[in-house]
Amino acid sequence: MSLGLVKNIVIVGGGTAGWMTAAAMSALISNGCKIRLVESDEISTIGVGEATIPVIRGFNQLIGVDENEFLRQTQGTFKLGIEFVNWSKQGESYIHGFGVIGRDQLLAKFYQYWLKLYQAGKAPGVEHYSINTMAASMNKFMRAASDSGDSPLSDISHAFHFDAGLYAKYLRGLSEGRGVQRTEGRIVDTVLRADDGFVEAIVMENGERIEGDLFVDCSGFRGLLIEGALKTGYEDWSHWLPCDRAIAVPCESVSPLLPYTRATAHDAGWQWRIPLQHRIGNGHVYSSKFMEPEQAESILMNNLDGKPLAQPRHLKFTTGKRKRAWNRNVVAIGLAGGFMEPLESTSIHLVQTGITRLLMMFPHLGYDQADIDSFNEATDNEYAAIRDFLILHYKLNTREGKPFWDYCRNMEIPATLQRRMDLYRSNGRIVRASDELFTETSWLQVMHGQGLRAKGYHPLVDQRSEADIAAFLANVKDVVLRCAEHMPTHEEYIASCCAA
Ligand code: FAD
Repeated sequence: MSLGLVKNIVIVGGGTAGWMTAAAMSALISNGCKIRLVESDEISTIGVGEATIPVIRGFNQLIGVDENEFLRQTQGTFKLGIEFVNWSKQGESYIHGFGVIGRDQLLAKFYQYWLKLYQAGKAPGVEHYSINTMAASMNKFMRAASDSGDSPLSDISHAFHFDAGLYAKYLRGLSEGRGVQRTEGRIVDTVLRADDGFVEAIVMENGERIEGDLFVDCSGFRGLLIEGALKTGYEDWSHWLPCDRAIAVPCESVSPLLPYTRATAHDAGWQWRIPLQHRIGNGHVYSSKFMEPEQAESILMNNLDGKPLAQPRHLKFTTGKRKRAWNRNVVAIGLAGGFMEPLESTSIHLVQTGITRLLMMFPHLGYDQADIDSFNEATDNEYAAIRDFLILHYKLNTREGKPFWDYCRNMEIPATLQRRMDLYRSNGRIVRASDELFTETSWLQVMHGQGLRAKGYHPLVDQRSEADIAAFLANVKDVVLRCAEHMPTHEEYIASCCAA
C-alpha cells in the first residue's frame, strides 16, 4: 500500500457513535477528505445511552455546540452525579458526585484530613464537602460560576442527560451541514483486498459498492466490519461484570426534576432512572444467569415513578471489549468496540475518546502498524481502568443471601483492583494513572459509599492539630452548604437555559 492521504472515510452506522464521529471529523478534517455515513432505517439504533459524564462538554466544544441549544434540541437536563440506592446494603444510599471535594492542601489531599476526623467520629460523611453532592441532594443546579474566586460555586462540575434519538438527529443536522454524505440502506457484504485483508468496500442491498480508505465501524453490537468481516475477536468480561441483559422503558416525568442519575440495586442487577425534560428514561440491567426476563420486567414496571410511555424493550449484551479496536483499516467506535454496561455512564465517553484518539493517530494510506498498536494499547488501558471501577461497585456489597450479590462479593477480581482496594484499606491512599478517567474523589466516594473503610490516614496530616483540622473541615462544610442553598432549583435553571 502506498503512502498518501486518506481521502475517503466511511462511517458504518448512524447511532450515537456514528453521528458523533461524523460531527467531529467534519468539524476537524478539512483537507478535501470525503466523509460518508451509511445507516439503515430498518436496523434500529440502541437508543438508550442517555446519561453522560462531564468530559462530554469538551466534545461539545470541539464540535462547536452551544450548550443551551443542545439542551433545547435534545430535551436535555443537567447531571451532577449518580445516586446509588441499596448498593452496599438494602436501605442505604450514597451519591457519587462529579468534581472536587473540599480543598486539597500542600501536604495531603482534603480527604486525608477528613478521614482522620471521620475515623475519630468527629466529622460527618464526605458528601458534606462536595458542592455537587450537596446541590444534588437539594435538587439545585447552576453552572460553575467563573467569577466566584475560591468559592465552591466555581467547582460545580456538570454533565448531561439527553434523549439519545434527538441527540443523533441533532448531530446529523450538524454533520450534513458540514458536508457529510449520508447513505441509507442495509449493508449486506464486505469486500476484502486479496493481498492484505484490508477492507476495500462495503456492498449495499441494492448492489451499490462503497469504497473507502478508512472505515469506522459504528455498527453497534454487530461489529459488522471489525468482527463480521475481520474476525478480530472479543474479550468476554462477564465473569467480572455479570449483567448481560437490559430492559428499557420511558415513563412520564414527575416533579422535582432531579439533577442526577439514580441507580437502584435489585436482586440480580440494578435499575437506572434518567430524568429528561419530557420524560424519564428507565431500565433494568440484570444477569440472565440469576433472573428470568419476565421477573426482571415486572420489577422494572413496578418501580417506575410515572406512567409508562411505551412497551418495554429487551436488550442483550456481553460485557467486554474487542481484542483490537483498530484492525487493518477498520477502527471500531461505540458498541462495535465493546461494552462494559451503563453503571457509570462511560460508553459515550469511550466513543468520544475513541474519536479523539483516532484523530491524534490519524493514518496515512500506508497504515503504520506502530500507530495502530499504540492506539490499541491506549484503548486497552482505558477500558481496563474503567472496568476495575465498575467491578468495585459489585464486589463491595453486603447484600447477603442474594445469589447474584453473593457471587459478586465472592468473585475473583483483577489484581489491579485488588491492589487499589488494599491500598485504600490501609491508609486511605488512592493512586491512579494521570490519564485515567475516574479521579481520586470518584474512587473515594464509591469505595467509601460501598462500605470499604480505611484503617488509617496519611501520617503527615498529624502535623496539624486536631482542632485546626476540625475548624478547617467545619468551614468547608459550612461554605458548601451555603453555596448549595444559594443555587436555583434544577427546574428553574433548565427553564432559564431553554427560554427562547
Ligand atoms: P447503535 O446505536 O446500535 O447504532 C448502530 C448503527 O449501525 C445503527 O444506525 C444501525 O442502523 C447501523 N447498522 C447496523 N448494521 C447495519 C447494516 N447491516 N447496514 C446498515 N447499517 C447498519 N452509554 C452512556 O454513555 N450512558 C448511558 O446511560 C448508557 N446507557 C446504556 C444502557 C444500555 C442498556 C445499553 C445497552 C447501552 C447504554 N449505553 C450508555 C451505551 C450507548 O447506548 C452506546 O454507547 C451509544 O448509543 C452508541 O451506540 P452505537 O452508535 O455504537 O450503536
